[in-house]
Amino acid sequence: MRKAVPAKKSVPAKTSAPAEKAASAAKSASAAKSAPAKKAVAAPAKKAVTGTAKKAVAGTAKKAVTGTAKKAVAGTAKKAVATERIAPAKPPRNESHTALVRRARRINRELAEVYPYAHPELDFENPFQLVVATVLSAQTTDLRVNQTTPALFAKYPTPEDLAAANPEEVEEILRPTGFFRAKTKSVMGLSKALRDDFGGEVPGRLEDLVKLPGVGRKTAFVVLGNAFGRPGITVDTHFQRLVRRWEWTAEKEPDKIERAIGELFPKTDWTMLSHHVIFHGRRICHARKPACGACPIAPLCPAYGEGETDPEKAKKLLKYEKGGFPGQRLNPPQSYLDAGGIPAPPLGVPASTSASPEPEPAAPTSPPSASPAAPATGSPSRGTG
Ligand code: SF4
Repeated sequence: MRKAVPAKKSVPAKTSAPAEKAASAAKSASAAKSAPAKKAVAAPAKKAVTGTAKKAVAGTAKKAVTGTAKKAVAGTAKKAVATERIAPAKPPRNESHTALVRRARRINRELAEVYPYAHPELDFENPFQLVVATVLSAQTTDLRVNQTTPALFAKYPTPEDLAAANPEEVEEILRPTGFFRAKTKSVMGLSKALRDDFGGEVPGRLEDLVKLPGVGRKTAFVVLGNAFGRPGITVDTHFQRLVRRWEWTAEKEPDKIERAIGELFPKTDWTMLSHHVIFHGRRICHARKPACGACPIAPLCPAYGEGETDPEKAKKLLKYEKGGFPGQRLNPPQSYLDAGGIPAPPLGVPASTSASPEPEPAAPTSPPSASPAAPATGSPSRGTG
């Protein structure tokens, strides 16, 4: 019996490496398989090792355990991925600030690997185009804005041009974005302010940007982060939902969320963090049906299981490039194309595939996409697309 002791003892050391390796391989092979792999693999490996340990007493302990464990991991991993659920990675009730910082940064690092091409999903060539596009994105998708702005900027390329435009002509161009009368007032108003108060240039300071008609802190941070390279956190509906699911903060007000999350990351990370989180919210961690079974950060997520955990069903919920569909930008960055991303079609040109298997539901702070049939006036707020 004594001989059995070293055999049992040797098991974890010999099995943990292949188990990790298999889990890691599953992760890189496919997002759908990666999430449950780590845990699913561990169980069959242990079982296999226990079963063979008795045989090992005869003198071949090391070899038998290692060989069987490897075989067990390889043989059962795939099956286990499809059937076993992983437990939500709930943080301890009294999680320290340091532990929260570590946890949050780890999730962001993982997201950076999943979305190395993350970027603002509005097409723009200069700060003026970005501020106008961001204002137009209220209550509609970035896709619809991207399909609308080429005609707008071709006709009115500068703030002076747009400020002096005939409002009815602008309204006609902006009609596809919904709320087109209110949006026409906003973009013409902000163009007048740029012309009269800022010499026709978009200011690069938060305090100036928020004085422009239709520009709040969120829009200002989008502009600062993406047109001026100044760090900013964009708290849109996706960002709010995901940081709450990950238990990074319990705050509900966008300004408070922005402050709370800002304390977890260095300023230099803020802009890309926003893109990572929003990309994840748009593609995988949806409001109503998060695709948990196809989520690469599932092993780190306290909310795992809130959505579909079956890998095959979850895969069908993936959107944009993760689901093999076109993206939102007509002119996406090269890194996106290199990763297999497909540009969005121009307005009126049907995409061969839909970007969205099913529409996002209404969110409390930001209603879903407005269609051309959306109300003509009102107070738009930032869209979900
Ligand atoms: S999809 Fe599921 S597992 Fe992934 S982040 Fe969202 S809630 Fe968590």
